[in-house]
Amino acid sequence: MAGGGGSLRRTTDLLDGRAVVSNDLGAFAVLDASEQRQLSMGDSFLPTSRRQDLEARRLLVDGAQSRLDQAIYRTRKSFLLDGPALHIFVVTLRCDHSCHYCQVSRASLEARGFDMSPGDAEAALDRVFESPSPTVTIEFQGGEPALRFDLVRQVVESAVRRNAEMGKHLRFSMVSTLHHLDDEALAFCALHGVHLSTSIDGPEARHNAQRPNPTRDAWSRTIEGLGRARAVLGDDGVVALPTITRAALDDPVGLVDQYRQLGFRSIFLRPVSPYGFARKTRRVHGYDMADFVRFYEAALAYILELNAAGVDFTEVYSSVLLRHIFTPFHSGYVDLRSPAGAGLGALVYNYDGKVYPSDEGRMAAETGDQRFALGSVHDPLDFLMASPAMTWLRTGAVAEELPGCSTCAFVPFCGADPVYHAAVQGDPRGERDTSEFCAKHMGLFRILFRHIADGDRETLRTFTAWAMGKPRAEIRWSGFVER
Ligand code: SF4
Repeated sequence: MAGGGGSLRRTTDLLDGRAVVSNDLGAFAVLDASEQRQLSMGDSFLPTSRRQDLEARRLLVDGAQSRLDQAIYRTRKSFLLDGPALHIFVVTLRCDHSCHYCQVSRASLEARGFDMSPGDAEAALDRVFESPSPTVTIEFQGGEPALRFDLVRQVVESAVRRNAEMGKHLRFSMVSTLHHLDDEALAFCALHGVHLSTSIDGPEARHNAQRPNPTRDAWSRTIEGLGRARAVLGDDGVVALPTITRAALDDPVGLVDQYRQLGFRSIFLRPVSPYGFARKTRRVHGYDMADFVRFYEAALAYILELNAAGVDFTEVYSSVLLRHIFTPFHSGYVDLRSPAGAGLGALVYNYDGKVYPSDEGRMAAETGDQRFALGSVHDPLDFLMASPAMTWLRTGAVAEELPGCSTCAFVPFCGADPVYHAAVQGDPRGERDTSEFCAKHMGLFRILFRHIADGDRETLRTFTAWAMGKPRAEIRWSGFVER
């Protein structure tokens, strides 16, 4: 545990006169300007009630760790014992879309040599079942994985067969435009609980402009596929997420309303990717991360208004961050943890049989940056974990040790992203001052903690529901869950 005692206190400014203090256990408090002054002079300058409050939260203690401290810390980092839990299969790189911001250099529909071989798929499953993780998610990505649904079917059926002995909690998901999933494929997804995730970038004109397909009807075909998929999988069987390009920044409310009109109960707001192929189109679609944070703040404010008016609607990334803030349990989101999820929590099996520590690593490889390849699907898991790439990435995997992060009050809730920092800045440890990863998270944590400090009852009720993954109706008030 950092700090050597019960807690290392870190402080970060909320840029409105208030500041967050937190410790390694994830305990936190928001201090106003006078409390910050009093604390800087010494604990005894705080009013007694506030001092006792901060002591109770272990924010003033620098003594030996209690058993409770150790239990909390172990819970916060329990994912470490599990090994890779997310296994991404890139069954094909082929796709009939040519999305302007696409992170990968996709191959055309007719291209040869861009599909995973059945033998490599089985070898990748050997790696999946070598992982000690009791929960395993197999995610199909592309290209467009539905173009090789035969491979999806093979992997799912083989995984289910193998798991009869292993007894892991097995989950499947697939990222798809929904254009190529016929009724038979959808019935298979329903039978095996394969959850679908698709992209909807906003209004029809914007979606078609950003995600062109040969017949220039990408939006209507995805909407048609959405209807068919929901009819078979149910309304919650398909989620969608937009990629926020520069064109989307002006109308956060319109985007949220469009998702509601399409019947979604959540949205995952994510900025345009800084990786791979997307780097080439950043001049057109990219923006400063501060613009995204402003967009996010406006979208979140609107979503909170909706919830306060009785409309259950979730911003998924906030719910990830709030789970880290309000509970000792990790969200399971492998892109935001410390030690980092790359390789340690997730593996990507590429169509060509190479293994990468994250989707971003293989995206960088598609543009010629091969530094992230761990080895082949035929190499044992131990060999992949001991590869030079993993040894290199581990140097930037522990957020609490990184310059900038080590003194940041958000670090217990944030994570390390050595692949991003290595790909964009050349060093897995990275520079926080110029890191978009940090700019995004610093911005989002500040927004959330300002809301938490403002203490609006309805907002806290919504935040609690999101952190706990429960409907708002089950939260009587923040911190109290109806049974
Ligand atoms: S990445 Fe930025 S926001 Fe996250 S812990 Fe590090 S310094 Fe803080």
